[in-house]
Amino acid sequence: MKAFIARNLYGLVVAGSVSAFALARAWGLSLEGVVLAASVATLLVAALLERVMPFDAAWNEPQGDTSTDAFSAAVLIGLVDPALKALMPVFALSLLRGLDAPWQVAALDAPFVLQVIAALLWIELAKYLSHRWHHRSPSLWWLHALHHGSRRLYWLNNFRFHPLNHAINSLASVLPLWLIGVPVDVLLAVAAITQPVVMLQHANIDLRSGVLNYVFSTNEVHRWHHSSEPSEANANFGSALVLWDQLFGTYRHRPGADRPRSVGLFGNGSGYPAARSYVGQLMSMFRPDCCRA
Ligand SMILES: [Zn+2]
Repeated sequence: MKAFIARNLYGLVVAGSVSAFALARAWGLSLEGVVLAASVATLLVAALLERVMPFDAAWNEPQGDTSTDAFSAAVLIGLVDPALKALMPVFALSLLRGLDAPWQVAALDAPFVLQVIAALLWIELAKYLSHRWHHRSPSLWWLHALHHGSRRLYWLNNFRFHPLNHAINSLASVLPLWLIGVPVDVLLAVAAITQPVVMLQHANIDLRSGVLNYVFSTNEVHRWHHSSEPSEANANFGSALVLWDQLFGTYRHRPGADRPRSVGLFGNGSGYPAARSYVGQLMSMFRPDCCRA
């Protein structure tokens, strides 16, 4: 049973989420509700399987990081995401005001599936570029270091992002689609594909996803991105897909039992106050020594 789960979990959660979305769309049910339910269900499965088949049993033990992860999750889910969701359409409308907006593309007459594929590729590209930029720019690295500060990988790391880091990713990827008039249903379909992948990305589960490691940014692949070795961590920037990593030469995967020696901050993270509280880490961007590492 464990071997079956290890090989097929990614396929099952993505297929389940996409099937539920398709049925909900056909039956006129809430698409947002289905995407949310699939995300929560995947997260609960991840938290459960971490106890049953952990990749590293030591990563199941708190390391003084739980409150930071919990606060970060509460802020992202309770404040930042709702604010972005409410403000993005308003922001897009204000940018378009008085404009003819000829770019509100005729291509939106394209079949739904093609629109979803195009939106998926764009969102993944924008998040990939934003992520690489957060690794290269000292100022942005200071924001992104919160995510890399964890010394272990587990389900709650999914939400360990500086609010500004999260907002930049969202604005770079989704706002342009609002500006060209991409329907909300298309964006929700992309989320139905990507959210289950993202919910498993940091999971401390011993998965062997095989060929899907070359499609999705699985926990096996993403583990390298959290290595404390810079040469290993500056790879696998993809959010849900590894397509852009493969095209731009930043893909790293070693099939089998290979793993980073340790995870956590690396290289230019020295000087970042990772041991501070969540609020202390957020406020460190206002310190005089910020961003010089
Ligand atoms: Zn990163």
